[in-house]
Amino acid sequence: MAKPFASSADLGEKQQSLEVPAEGVYALTAEGDPNVGAIEGEDFLVCFEALATPVAARAWLARLREHTDKPIRYLVLSHYHAVRVLGASAFGADVIVTHEKTRELIAERGEQDWASEYARMPRLFKEPASIPGLTWPTATFSDRFTIDLGGERGDLVLEHCGRGHTEGDLVAWLPRRRIMFAGDLVESQAALYTGDAFHREWSSSTLDRVASFGAETLVGGRGAVARGKRGVDAAIAQTREFLAVMLREVGAAGTLKEAFDRTHRALAPQYGSWPIFEHCLPFNVSRLWDELHGIERPRIWTAERDREVWDQLQS
Ligand SMILES: [Zn+2]
Repeated sequence: MAKPFASSADLGEKQQSLEVPAEGVYALTAEGDPNVGAIEGEDFLVCFEALATPVAARAWLARLREHTDKPIRYLVLSHYHAVRVLGASAFGADVIVTHEKTRELIAERGEQDWASEYARMPRLFKEPASIPGLTWPTATFSDRFTIDLGGERGDLVLEHCGRGHTEGDLVAWLPRRRIMFAGDLVESQAALYTGDAFHREWSSSTLDRVASFGAETLVGGRGAVARGKRGVDAAIAQTREFLAVMLREVGAAGTLKEAFDRTHRALAPQYGSWPIFEHCLPFNVSRLWDELHGIERPRIWTAERDREVWDQLQS
């Protein structure tokens, strides 16, 4: 029997959990659905990630408002993917911050990515008509962007650690609390999506840089909050191992279909039951196949190309 396309048949509501890993720091996780967070400044809020639609974002903000009524000055978006950014208008933030490459990617492929992600993960797009259009950052940076949180709260540091999940990922680092929001550069017991990735760089220098902060709490893109040095190290190691297995298996294959079958066989015992594993794998292998055959930048996913790759590999 054919597997249903991507996450199109995944329609069950996920349980959301609001965690407060330190005073004034919030993380909303949802059993493998995209995570969001917020950090309190002295008299303002920084929100991290925006979910797929304003309606989805408003439900998150209602929970956040049970804890703080400070105005949202900054909305930080870790990368360009639609399910992370298209809810931005709900925040009414003064400043929307991304890496400079993220702005370029939104201009180059934001429309196609929106259509692609909507077809892949329709459940995440609550009331899609509430999306007013593409989300555009109002501030960008190349290496580092620092937000002074005021009072005794220290800085929130946004940093680009190299290419990884996309060409323009950022992490948010709260040194005083040793808490990191890593976006999709690190997943915690959720499968990786690598369809727009730079696998070799991500699995080596980029994750080395992420690990070098020495976080003691890490909120990844999906999955539970990783707690303690051991928990953070385990999440980073899981991410690196997933990439290493993909590189090994795709690198040893003679055809794209063989690459998919080998990778599936190698990853399924450990990762097969984790959220979005079956959904992601065809797109992941297709991109890595390209990367290993000299295609430097990820090809643009369209709703049509998604179906072609799916039918070729998952059927
Ligand atoms: Zn992503």
